[in-house]
Amino acid sequence: MQLTDYIRTIKDFPKKGISYKDITPLLLNPEACELVVSEFIKGLEGKPIDKVVGIESRGFLFGMLLAKALNVGFVPIRKPGKLPSQTFSQSYDLEYGSDTIEIHKDDIKKGERIILHDDLLATGGTAAAACQLIEKLGGEIVQVNFLIELDFLEGRKHLPKANVNSLVHY
Ligand code: AMP
Repeated sequence: MQLTDYIRTIKDFPKKGISYKDITPLLLNPEACELVVSEFIKGLEGKPIDKVVGIESRGFLFGMLLAKALNVGFVPIRKPGKLPSQTFSQSYDLEYGSDTIEIHKDDIKKGERIILHDDLLATGGTAAAACQLIEKLGGEIVQVNFLIELDFLEGRKHLPKANVNSLVHY
């Protein structure tokens, strides 16, 4: 089974010039989803993990499955104004303008060993901001994993300290 068979590219979505990687065909297939989780777990053998952090919104899908498989808690990182309790915020630059993400202040304790997950690594701005939030709470980032990495955008450059693991490269 090839994961790439379950990822389709939609040209010019959500705007002209973007080749959108659509994982909804993968979500329809339980065996492909199982394969994704088992591939992520392979890279984590022998490493104690306390929590999985997922980035809104597609990072919630496999982030939660991975947390369940590892039998650890899941922490959502969300867009501003979505988390109801006390939060820390981090802003980051986009091609035009900026964006902000938030985490609940009490979701990670100092010294906890964290997996950060998102569906796709593009420029790396979102994941780098998420790493900053985790580190602000004292979390130790064991691995940053992505289902898909767009190699040509060199997003890894924004995650110099992290152990980055991506299952599919374009
Ligand atoms: P970036 O901060 O540039 O690494 O962007 C990563 C975020 O944007 C991820 O949460 C992705 O879900 C989304 N994203 C960026 N580019 C694409 C793409 N070509 N296809 C699907 N999602 C994308």
